[in-house]
Amino acid sequence: MNNHLLPISEYTPEPIKFIGFTQPHGVFLAIKEPELTILQVSNNTSHFLGFPPEDLLNQPLSKFIDQEQINVFLDYLSQQDLQSSNPIEFTINVRDENIDFDGVIHRSQDILILELEPTLLDKSKVFFKFYPLIKLAVSKLKGADSTPLICQILAKEVRKITGFDRVMLYKFDDDGHGYVIAEDKLDSLETYLGLHYPESDIPRVARELFTSNYTRLIPDANAKPIEIIPCHNPITNQPTDLTNSMLRSASPCHIQYLHNMGVAASLTISLVKDQKLWGLIACHHQLPKYLPYEIRSACEILGQMTSLELANKQDNQDSEYKIHLASIQSKLIEYMSIDKNFIDGLINHKINILNLVNAQGAAICFDGEYITIGNTPEQKDIQKLVAWINQNLQESIFYTNTLYQFYPPAEEFRNLASGLLVVSIAKSQKNYILWFRPEVLQTIDWAGNPYQPLQIMEDEGIPLSPRKSFELWKEIVQLKSLPWKSCEVNAALELRNSIIGVVLRKVDELEVLNRDLERSNNELDAFAYIASHDLKEPLRGIHNYSNFLIEDYGETLNEDGQSKLRTLIRLTQRMEDLIDSLLHFSRLGRIDLSMQQIDLNKILDNILDLLSPRIEQEKIEIRIPEPLPKIYCDRVQISEVFNNLIANAIKYNDKDEKWIEIGYLPETNPLQFYVKDNGIGIKNKHFNTIFRIFKRLHGPSKYGGGTGAGLTIVQKILEKHDGKIWVESIYGEGTTFYFTLQGDEVQ
Ligand code: ADP
Repeated sequence: MNNHLLPISEYTPEPIKFIGFTQPHGVFLAIKEPELTILQVSNNTSHFLGFPPEDLLNQPLSKFIDQEQINVFLDYLSQQDLQSSNPIEFTINVRDENIDFDGVIHRSQDILILELEPTLLDKSKVFFKFYPLIKLAVSKLKGADSTPLICQILAKEVRKITGFDRVMLYKFDDDGHGYVIAEDKLDSLETYLGLHYPESDIPRVARELFTSNYTRLIPDANAKPIEIIPCHNPITNQPTDLTNSMLRSASPCHIQYLHNMGVAASLTISLVKDQKLWGLIACHHQLPKYLPYEIRSACEILGQMTSLELANKQDNQDSEYKIHLASIQSKLIEYMSIDKNFIDGLINHKINILNLVNAQGAAICFDGEYITIGNTPEQKDIQKLVAWINQNLQESIFYTNTLYQFYPPAEEFRNLASGLLVVSIAKSQKNYILWFRPEVLQTIDWAGNPYQPLQIMEDEGIPLSPRKSFELWKEIVQLKSLPWKSCEVNAALELRNSIIGVVLRKVDELEVLNRDLERSNNELDAFAYIASHDLKEPLRGIHNYSNFLIEDYGETLNEDGQSKLRTLIRLTQRMEDLIDSLLHFSRLGRIDLSMQQIDLNKILDNILDLLSPRIEQEKIEIRIPEPLPKIYCDRVQISEVFNNLIANAIKYNDKDEKWIEIGYLPETNPLQFYVKDNGIGIKNKHFNTIFRIFKRLHGPSKYGGGTGAGLTIVQKILEKHDGKIWVESIYGEGTTFYFTLQGDEVQ
């Protein structure tokens, strides 16, 4: 089956524009201005003009065109937009007969090119025959509302106007390959509708030709090419650039190609939008077929009109979608600023980040956490993907609809993430937002195997041969998601900027809060210090005077009076203890840590030594499953932590056989220590309150008394070491205090 579009040879790497040959249906003249001296001609002037090339070369144009027409011609040449005057009508006397020509002019490398085609049709007939057809086509195109319909109408109307056997609309995809989106043809011909063509069929060079010259007619693919004489331009000593020549000959490869297809004549019209070739109108005829310049131009105008119409439609659709995306974006920004955490704002509402880019899954990787929504790969896969992104992503955005090509492990989760769109929030912290799209299997009908586009052959002087097999070749495209639209990509980028704004603002707010907190903490410490310091003095006075009273006047008081005085002394003592605790606590906030490498075993030995009288007295078994590590910490303060916790473990135990276990969990990071006892235990409801200052669960003198500040002090010391403390306990059975210490472990 020969089902390729016409222009394959136009796209081979041959230097097509310097081919040096023209097609035989007109005369080619390269002319030097301003004298209008003929520099080069196609070797068919005898046939069309009645003069052999040697009679015309180096002669003025007036050799075969009369002065009156030359004067009109000079007028055209002085115009800015040279091509707008095309075609210029010439009547030339050839062998005593007046023949009409369509003259088409352009300049190439400062050389004027004049191409003459005999006017085969009566101009007025052309007008009356084709004008109504074109008018009708325009009105039909204007009435169509959908893109496929517009394309179909265009193919049909161009075929009506040109009379070609087959007219197709060929569209280039973003990835460079093209496919037939509309077709009108003779019933007897096989359809090419829906067939795809690889990018290599129409590479960049060829597309450039199509963007500079919008129509390309090959009326007879079998006609013998005509050489240009001389082959090099005598002024430039180079072959003349035929990029914009209408008559430029087709390359041998192209002729071969047309043969393979069984096509004798072809007309190609470029479809251009914003200087970009987005498609072609390709017309095929099985027999040779010539079309006058005006009709070619009319088809070109139809093509351009359609391009504009389609572009308009696309723009309208795009802008509707863009407005939709913008409204989602502003909702997300609103949620982000209202919600406590911007991540909640992005995922916890009915409108969420999935809607922003029409994705099926998304992951927000922030500060080491992975928050997902919709259908996403597993966290371990996302983690690996993020590590890869972090290593490879230089820009703030990356997107693909074939992730597998960049990141082969993506094959594993193709049904979730064949497409990826990722924006980076902060590369250094590995903070990213990822959107996923699943694989969408597509069947593509290729015209021939696209993976063997051209065969290189050296036979019969044809350097390159187009492919010969155009058998329908079906491919199931795998590992590919729907592509990301540019407005979706932009929406993701804009969201990224907003997030950065929100995050930065939150950081600022947090900093202000922190500063406020620090200031009020300092003030509180200072207040506690001053208050306790100043209170101590009068308290001491009361205490002393109460003692004097009981010593000097105790006997004059009755038993009740003496007891009240003793209570007063006890209370002042207790108050002093409380004030001392407060003073101690407030000092903690004011002194800096003196960090050094400390062997915790030594600390523990000291404390056990200090507490040994009570340990022995109570017959408490001390268990230390394994030696404690060395860590960086403040020796005095960490001693206090162990001291307080062990002292409590001794105090709050009423069992006959008491034990205390002191240890740590070696595999933890930060290291997790514990002090465990089989004492009285603590009810769940008190797990938090026991850390409040002066909070005791018992009467002042029960369990050996205490101020209720010990655990508060322990907590404060640990917080200063970036650690924390918590309690686990079964009431009546025993208690374990756990605490963490950040200090690097040095074994
Ligand atoms: P204090 O021991 O001076 O009362 P703490 O702040 O050290 O103050 O302890 C607060 C309260 O927590 C204690 O009154 C006690 O009720 C409870 N508590 C502390 N350690 C233990 C323990 N090992 N077993 C049972 N209860 C405890």
